[in-house]
Order: sequence, then structure tokens, then C-alpha cells
Amino acid sequence: MKTPLLLLLLVALPLSAWGDKGHRVTCTLALEGLPPSLHAWYAGRETEVEDHASDPDHWRSDRKEGPRHFLDMEPYGGPDQLPRTLEAAQAKIGGDYYRRGVVPWIIQDRWRDLVDAFKSGDASRVTMATSILSHYVADAHVPLHTTENHDGQATNQRGVHSRWESGLVERYLQVEAIKALPAEADPHILERPWDWLRDSHALVPQLLEDDLSADRTTPTDGQRKQRTQAYWMIFWAKQGPVVKGQLQLAGKHLGDAILTAWIAAGKPAGPAKPAH
Ligand SMILES: [Zn+2]
Repeated sequence: MKTPLLLLLLVALPLSAWGDKGHRVTCTLALEGLPPSLHAWYAGRETEVEDHASDPDHWRSDRKEGPRHFLDMEPYGGPDQLPRTLEAAQAKIGGDYYRRGVVPWIIQDRWRDLVDAFKSGDASRVTMATSILSHYVADAHVPLHTTENHDGQATNQRGVHSRWESGLVERYLQVEAIKALPAEADPHILERPWDWLRDSHALVPQLLEDDLSADRTTPTDGQRKQRTQAYWMIFWAKQGPVVKGQLQLAGKHLGDAILTAWIAAGKPAGPAKPAH
């Protein structure tokens, strides 16, 4: 029986990549970086976009949802051997491929949804499609979403996943400390998720090393594995720039994806401003 194994795996997955705050920040930065031609689409709807950015993390009771948030690279032989299609993924590692993660393909699908939303002319549809796309783009920028050692379970660092993406973000991140980068149209947007994942993956060894060294210098309550304040300060001192950099890039890449979707839809004019 395959199902119990799959369910076990899903239960073991972290529930909320980036935490709500990181997902919100990604949207804030992306919308700030959009050119004026797109402002009408999102004016007054910024909070709504952020409010739904974590929705996909609440859909995990559907067991097909979990693998949409990550891609394990090791089964494919590393970042340079990744399949570009689901067919190639299956051909390479067999029926197991889905539970090893499908985030790049989900980004492609949700990007196409955004193009359709722009074509429909319906601003609330654009808002929702942007939120949902933002989630998976942001997840692809979390280093631990690219490895089978996603929670440090193979290196005796259990919990490192949420310590990095929620613990640090909730404790220390100041949105104002991150500059929004301007969105650029990207004719290769559908291939980019693989680049984002490769760059995220390259950050894994240092992240794990910094967690270990913060642990070594600040012994935890061995019984309950509670990290001390000193642990958090050291881990942030080492990984804070990485956290901020990845969120900045996630926002920039989401902005690129939005701008490119709008162009692909034929640059539709946004809804008229409501009369006062
Ligand atoms: Zn997620």
C-alpha cells in the first residue's frame, strides 16, 4: 500500500514555508516593483493579495498539494540533472516522482492562470491568481525546499526548516529593510523556476553549517531542544542576509512573472478607479 507512506511523508512536512510573514513580504515587494502601467490592477487590493498568499499551505489536507511546494534534487542527481517536464521526471526516477516535488511545474501552471486572469479583465481574479502564484514562487526561494534533507533529519538538525524560514523571519525581519527591485519582462519566465531552485539549493550547505555552529556556541535545553536567545541572534547574524536576499529575489521574480503575464495577455488596461 502506498498511501500510508505518502500520508506519513506529508504529515512530516513543515506546514508553512516562509510563514505567513515571508509570503506577505514577497507580495509587498513584488507589487512595489511593478511599473506604473500595472498599478491600476492592484490599487487598493495590495492587502488582499497578501491575505491569500499563504492559502496553498492550508490546502495540504489534499495529499496532492504537499509536493507542489518543493522539489527534492538528490533523486535526480543534483541541480544540473533536473528534468524539465513531468514526463522526463517520471522517466528518470519512476512512479515516485510526484512525491519528490513538482514546484517548478506548478509555478508554470499558476503563471498561465494569471495570464488568463488578465485576459478576463476581472481584477479580483487577477488578485487571487497573483496570490496563489506568489506562494509557489516564494517557496522555490527557500533553500530547504530543494533537498530531501528538508528538515535537517539526515544531519541531526531536526526543526531547522521552521527555524530558518519562520523562526528567523518572525523574530527579526523588518520589511522596510528590504528594497523592492523593479520588475523586468522575462521572455524565458517559464524556464526560470529551475534557475531559482538551483540558486536556492546552492545555499543549503552554509545554512545547515550556520545552524550547527549557532547550536554549538549556545547549548540548548537538551530535554526540550528549546533554542536560546543567543542561538537566534547568532543564526540571524549569519543567515539574516540570506533570508533577506532570498525574499528580495522572490519579490523581484514574482514581479517579473506578473509583468510578463500581463504582457502575454496583451497588456490589458486595468479597471477604472472607483468613483468617489
Ligand atoms: Zn508552501
